[in-house]
Amino acid sequence: MNIPRLLFQLQEIDLAHDAAREKSGRIENELAADPLAVERNAINKQQTELRGLQHELRENDAQVDDFTDRIKGYEEKLYSGRITSPKELTTLQKDIELLRGHRIPFEDKSLALMEAVEALEHSISDAETALQRHKETLDTHKRELIGQLEVVAAETSELETRRAALLPEIPSYVQVQYQSLRKQKGRAVSKVEQAICRACGIAVTAAWLHRARTGEIVRCTNCNRILYLE
Ligand SMILES: [Zn+2]
Repeated sequence: MNIPRLLFQLQEIDLAHDAAREKSGRIENELAADPLAVERNAINKQQTELRGLQHELRENDAQVDDFTDRIKGYEEKLYSGRITSPKELTTLQKDIELLRGHRIPFEDKSLALMEAVEALEHSISDAETALQRHKETLDTHKRELIGQLEVVAAETSELETRRAALLPEIPSYVQVQYQSLRKQKGRAVSKVEQAICRACGIAVTAAWLHRARTGEIVRCTNCNRILYLE
């Protein structure tokens, strides 16, 4: 039984398993992320601003109404026929004019506020439409990611089955060596090609090559990895 070959197969499985775990971690992170938070926060901010403007508009309208009520009261008095003194009538007319004059800036402000409210409502509506569109795109992407996650899970499960089938063929003391090397170096087994250790690039001596070819466990003299000849 060629143990280095089995170890090399084990390493291929373990590396694929590592890659699968890394991939599923990446996918899970992406699924947990909330890329639309910035957009949603911007809309919330605009909605708060809108409520502020609407409140300001209501208060300003109340001021306009107050002036209008006072003007109306004076006008009723003026046209009631109860006042006959020309001096009093003139004063009343002047007061009405004065109140009308005072009312103008409030009316102007209400108009400006109404325009601002309308513009902001449009802006919010546009942003909500865009957000909905982005959410749909994101949902589609997330469904794809969930599909990828399922594929990776199936691959992982298959790798684990293959690993479990392979392990009984490898003596446990060799498994310990392999695990320790893997921990230190990431790769415990190195392929030998054209008498060169692929992992570190050092030449492998003829005697070492011969021993490795028989299936014996031979370590690279430079990087200490287990050598595997095809
Ligand atoms: Zn080496």
